[in-house]
Amino acid sequence: MTRIAFIGLGRMGHGMARRYIDAGFTVALWNRSRSKAEDLIARGAHWATSPEDAAIDADAVVTMVADDEASRRVWLGKDGAANSMKAGTLAIECSTVSHAHALDMAREFEGRGLIYIDSPVTGLPDAAAAGKLTLLVGADAADLDRAQPYLAPLASTIRHFGGVGNGTIYKLINNLMGAIQIAGVAEGLAIAEQAGLDMKQVVEAIETGVAASPQVIRHSRRMAARNFAGANFTAALRHKDAAYAVALAESLLSSEPLMGRAAVAAYERAKAHAPDDDEGKMIEIVSRPK
Ligand code: NAP
Repeated sequence: MTRIAFIGLGRMGHGMARRYIDAGFTVALWNRSRSKAEDLIARGAHWATSPEDAAIDADAVVTMVADDEASRRVWLGKDGAANSMKAGTLAIECSTVSHAHALDMAREFEGRGLIYIDSPVTGLPDAAAAGKLTLLVGADAADLDRAQPYLAPLASTIRHFGGVGNGTIYKLINNLMGAIQIAGVAEGLAIAEQAGLDMKQVVEAIETGVAASPQVIRHSRRMAARNFAGANFTAALRHKDAAYAVALAESLLSSEPLMGRAAVAAYERAKAHAPDDDEGKMIEIVSRPK
């Protein structure tokens, strides 16, 4: 049976790991906190004592952790997965990391005779649990071919952007544009509220107007109702993505980032306010009356 090591059982990773179990893979799991693995162990997964332990005899290793620091720790830490991976094994990074980190990891893995591909995702935790993510892949075509059987259980769409690192470039611009839109919705709604407009009418007009994107539609009603139940994507993660995107912009563009730095600053405030709550709480930052 095909053996997968899966590392990182947060909001996204938990459902992704379950997809492999339900698809009949032999799955070894590791997460920093074991409690999140209990139901998956009951479903047939094997608990590993470290990322290194999880990766023993794995055909592929998949990670879904928070950021660069967590990625480095689980791949290359003293008990990291790279220590025990067999030569030629695929390292599939689904976490959203910085572009510089993805390139560093690819070089490091190549030096060890391993293959690193970046495959960050779009889709919320419910899409992760249903195997309906969109994967944004950076990999040589031959490596992507080899990775297909390990990607298929997770995804309804796989977009190949070119060589390693390119999936991450697209993911970061996608999330930077999302950060700008969400901060914009918060500000627009806050102005309408303070001015005393009928918010039901405002939300309906936003949802059907020219500024409506899926991101705007997803957030406007929840923000207006201050309904942040079931955080999907946290302020801390949105801040991380915007900061990684701005670092990328600064490495490529001679002009100052136009909106990116403002988005990073806005999410710095949202993160200071409620780091682990839904990113939509941005409205609480901007809606304080004069
Ligand atoms: P999450 O619920 O906060 O989970 C984060 C995961 O990273 C947990 O497994 C956590 O372990 C682990 N982690 C954090 N710091 C670590 C460290 N220093 N060492 C080892 N493990 C560490 O986040 P998520 O929403 O699942 O997001 C995971 C990744 O997917 C992020 O890169 C995020 O940007 C991306 N993403 C998220 C969404 C979304 O809608 N949520 C959508 C697309 C992409 P513990 O369980 O022990 O805390």
